[in-house]
Amino acid sequence: MTTDCIFCRIVSGDLPSAQAYSDDHVLAFADINAVAPIHTLVIPKQHITFLEGMTAEHEPSLGRLLRAAAEVARQQKLVESGYRLVINQGADAGQMVDHLHVHILGGRTLGSMV
Ligand code: 5GP
Ligand code: ZN
Repeated sequence: MTTDCIFCRIVSGDLPSAQAYSDDHVLAFADINAVAPIHTLVIPKQHITFLEGMTAEHEPSLGRLLRAAAEVARQQKLVESGYRLVINQGADAGQMVDHLHVHILGGRTLGSMV
């Protein structure tokens, strides 16, 4: 945990969040600035900054993160309508928080980006 990281402070309970899911390794909570009717962030509880530099030892964490994202999407009833997962990496992607996170976006038609 790094005390200057907003998401680590949310994990520790130092900052509040509207929690959607929690297990030993993963936390999901509502994005404070939602850009879709459902906009949830899924993060590893362990501070991981970027995908760059990940090693084989991180593979279980990344797998759990995606499984948790799918579970949250199911709980939020997005499976039938569909949803988008986004992982911003670095400046050109507009990454603001340097703690790896997956955005779950859903609840409306999402324009095609790619
Ligand atoms: P990024 O651009 O880094 O991929 O996304 C960071 C996201 O974190 C943004 O969508 C932003 O609205 C959200 N965010 C930033 N600070 C907070 C916070 O304190 N609480 C919550 N719930 N979301 C935050
Ligand atoms: Zn962190």
